[in-house]
Amino acid sequence: MKTVLGLIACAAVGCTRDAGTSRPASEPAASVVAAAPTIDRPALATVPTALVGEYAATWDPATGVVGVEARFTASASSAFGLDRGAEAFARDVEASADRDGAPWVPVVRNGRQFEAAPCASGPCRLRYRYALREAAKKIDDLDVASEEGEVVEAPPSTWLLAPTRAPRQLRLRFRVACPEGSRFVTGVFHSEEVPAAWDISIDDLWTSPYTAFGPFKVRSVPVKGGSIELAVGPGKTAVSEEDIAHWVEASARAVTTYYGRFPMRSALVMLIVSRGRWVGSGRTLSGGGGTVFVRIGERAMPKAYRDDWVLVHEMIHLTFPSVTREQDWAEEGIATYAEPFARVRAGLVSEADAWLGLVEGLPNGLPAAGDRGLDRTHTWGRIYWGGALFWFVADVEIRKRTQNRFGLEDALRAVVDAGGSNASRWPLADVMSAGDRATGVPVLRELYEAMASSPHPIELEPLLKSLGVELSGGRVTFDDKAPLAGIRRAITRGNEPSAPAAQH
Ligand SMILES: [Zn+2]
Repeated sequence: MKTVLGLIACAAVGCTRDAGTSRPASEPAASVVAAAPTIDRPALATVPTALVGEYAATWDPATGVVGVEARFTASASSAFGLDRGAEAFARDVEASADRDGAPWVPVVRNGRQFEAAPCASGPCRLRYRYALREAAKKIDDLDVASEEGEVVEAPPSTWLLAPTRAPRQLRLRFRVACPEGSRFVTGVFHSEEVPAAWDISIDDLWTSPYTAFGPFKVRSVPVKGGSIELAVGPGKTAVSEEDIAHWVEASARAVTTYYGRFPMRSALVMLIVSRGRWVGSGRTLSGGGGTVFVRIGERAMPKAYRDDWVLVHEMIHLTFPSVTREQDWAEEGIATYAEPFARVRAGLVSEADAWLGLVEGLPNGLPAAGDRGLDRTHTWGRIYWGGALFWFVADVEIRKRTQNRFGLEDALRAVVDAGGSNASRWPLADVMSAGDRATGVPVLRELYEAMASSPHPIELEPLLKSLGVELSGGRVTFDDKAPLAGIRRAITRGNEPSAPAAQH
């Protein structure tokens, strides 16, 4: 989430979900997805809109400065802005009318706004230098600008001066030149018209994905329905580049197995080599594209990658439309609930271990005294595990009402098929409607109405027992004679073409 919107990231409630699960408690795995402001608009597929500005940026690793030249149509405003706190690092900002011989005049900064007088009356040009490395050192916030060794990470909203009074659906296009040995990587979608450039709406720019400059090793990882750009920052790792690429591919395969395909035509996975022997600490930031950012420990051995769940969790964030901040539970809940089953289906974790994580974690999601429902109780337990509980109960109920012909994954796939992904913002009610239409039963709407604004406790133990999930001695065993054992099998492995109907 971007601080420009005046909101704070979910670190306040803790973004880890390892406590109370079989996950290593010593390795906090922060995970936060970009929450968006409430925008009252229907969920529509992206429609290309008019281009209002084009930027050419040049990265100088020696000075840590980005030089920017930009050209705007008459539709742009004379006011320009950057992310909150980022404005102090824009230097020598000048503007001119876009015609031969027009003079360059200094642009005055008034608080957070840059007023470019020549842009008030027609097409204009801007030029400036942005002290990005200095900003990263001083701001030190991954969502705005942060220094990661030789890498400088900063979404484009930090260093692209954007028109602040132009219609927000208008499009901006940027190109970035880097000297040899340095790379520019971003999760922003490439321009469909000019593949060497990136296009983003002014609206999406304010939540634009993690983006970085530095000596990355970059490769393309093909996935079903799209491709992932894998960028690994500098540093030695205990495993090979091939092993890392294989881990990314396997994690993406878990997502495509559960969802039918990857939710975005492209996405960036940015890995930063850190100290330690763990893989984890992931974050996802999306808006007009998507980036998953994960730290990998320099001493992490192959087992740490095999056991990792964070990358799948973060990739599942890419599948779900960005909803309002108060509904973080929906985004974190689905990533928490679907991750183990996605990994089971890709052969990355056993069925027993997948259920063990849920059986141990879900009680954290039950309402405590004073709970005011999922939309209004913003605790770690309710956001991560309360959200997981919502999707779990929904999955079982959809399967019960459809004689196990449909499950939650059918609802989720329908959302992705309708163009829903974390690159776009949808009202949560639209997500629920699209899902319910796919399964033919209004389970998501009804459950949302029940759980959004009131505690709505769930009888968890009887529910697990009916599914034939039993916990004893820290291990999960399955009872295939349980009344809903068929539903449990379908939740775990998906509906086989020849799967028997649900047992009642
Ligand atoms: Zn998450």
